[in-house]
Amino acid sequence: MPSTRSLLPKLKKDYPQLLFTPSGHFSWSPGAHTVFYDEVDTSNTSLLLHELAHGLLDHHDYSKDIELVAMESQAWDKALELAPLYGIKITDDTVQDSLDTYREWLHARSTCPECEATGYQSGKNLYTCVACSHEWRVNEARLCALRRYSTK
Ligand SMILES: [Zn+2]
Ligand SMILES: [Zn+2]
Repeated sequence: MPSTRSLLPKLKKDYPQLLFTPSGHFSWSPGAHTVFYDEVDTSNTSLLLHELAHGLLDHHDYSKDIELVAMESQAWDKALELAPLYGIKITDDTVQDSLDTYREWLHARSTCPECEATGYQSGKNLYTCVACSHEWRVNEARLCALRRYSTK
């Protein structure tokens, strides 16, 4: 199986417009135009391609949480497209597990703390309940760095 160590020189050559920087975890930084990668987790070529895909799709900040979930899905679609070019196989489990974490995150944020009905997002970090009109604030979430990914 290819490792991120053998993949990175190819990506740097193919995408000179992006920077690739070692870090504690995988993420995409639109401001710095940089793909950060976990130096230790060298087997995680899927996630490296995923972060690259965010960069190639020019993903920026989002105003609604649902947009983040959509961007995650688009980034995986793009990563799946790139994978065969680099001899990498991204499994459906990897994609679904990753998307599930965002879906669960969205579900947790949009559930009313008072009555457990589903609310709608009424501001950047604000939700309003459709059933009881309760309003609640949620924490800021960073693009594609919501949690550390575990790999098999
Ligand atoms: Zn409610
Ligand atoms: Zn992502």
